[in-house]
Amino acid sequence: MSCRATRPFLAGMGRNALRQWALAAGEPAFRGGQVGDWIFRRGVVDPIGMTTLPAGLRERLRRDFHAPGSRVAEYVDAPDGTEKLLLTLHDGESIEMVLIPGEERLTFCLSTQVGCPVRCRFCASGRDGLVRNLETGEIIEEFLLGAARAGRRPDNLVFMGIGEGLLNFDRLVAALELLTSPEGFGMSPRRITVSTSGYVPGMLRFAELGREYNLAISLHAPDDEIRARLIPDGLRYPVAEIMAAADRYLECAGRMVTLEYTLLDGINDSPETARRLAVLAKRHHAKVNLIPYNATGSGFRRPPRSAIDMFERILADAGAHVTVRVERGAKGVAACGQLRSARCNMKKQESQSS
Ligand code: SAH
Ligand code: SF4
Repeated sequence: MSCRATRPFLAGMGRNALRQWALAAGEPAFRGGQVGDWIFRRGVVDPIGMTTLPAGLRERLRRDFHAPGSRVAEYVDAPDGTEKLLLTLHDGESIEMVLIPGEERLTFCLSTQVGCPVRCRFCASGRDGLVRNLETGEIIEEFLLGAARAGRRPDNLVFMGIGEGLLNFDRLVAALELLTSPEGFGMSPRRITVSTSGYVPGMLRFAELGREYNLAISLHAPDDEIRARLIPDGLRYPVAEIMAAADRYLECAGRMVTLEYTLLDGINDSPETARRLAVLAKRHHAKVNLIPYNATGSGFRRPPRSAIDMFERILADAGAHVTVRVERGAKGVAACGQLRSARCNMKKQESQSS
């Protein structure tokens, strides 16, 4: 009997691994290549749909792998045209991803973990800490479920859903390799952004890859005092170390980093803070992306429009490259991790009342 927990995910297998699998199953290697074509060219992970394979081999794939492991539990439309997919994983856990259509480009926002160990105080994803890491194949399945829904592959990918991707380093990087390899999905690394809360050891390893992925750093404050109010001790690194790792990233990957800055009323939105952030951004050749806070019931508030505008203007006047995140997905239960946590709370309430 095969053990469900140890079965690998078919979507996480590269072509070489698939050829090896075919040989081990007593089949010619080209059968593994055919499986790869179904996954990478046609986006099919369920062997039932792999109609060029003999029935016995399809059965064998179903026995040997999670194929697929995840399914869409719910589609949630936001009025601004974004769509959230709540996914149920093979073990009943859930994550979410977002499809973000732009004027010309389609972007997918993907999760890397179930929950998050960093536990930023304003973020719904980290409220209950980490449940588990996503497997490489589960990350690829997010991508494929999004593509199936959209009817096409995305132009851009951002890892800004649930979780701290650089704490799931090896599985995330293996997924990035499948996404960018010409033998895999063939995306340009320049169209992929990984967002980190400033996990310095992961940033340095990511830099050492020397690949042209974009790196976004959730800085939220120009100094350690303000940052300590937002991110608990444990996985919070000093601003100076984070910026040194950002310099290293620019040096090794040749990509300018983006500083993400969730604007919170009365915490990190003063004009003085904006001036200090501008100095930091310019010194490190970084862009700044302001994200007005979406309420998650955490006790924080979004600053008034006038404060957001002033913050942006101070940065721009100081010569920093600054953008404000468009209000996509801000309505309803749309901020990072909110859909999952809303559903989990509903489940908790249901089980408490039954
Ligand atoms: N863990 C990574 C990536 C996921 S969070 C990181 O922290 O960068 C992606 C971004 O969403 C982060 O910049 C985070 O600060 C922001 N975010 C999380 N909850 C938010 C909320 N309620 N309102 C606005 N931004 C939020
Ligand atoms: Fe984790 Fe990012 Fe949320 Fe912080 S903001 S708890 S690092 S997902």
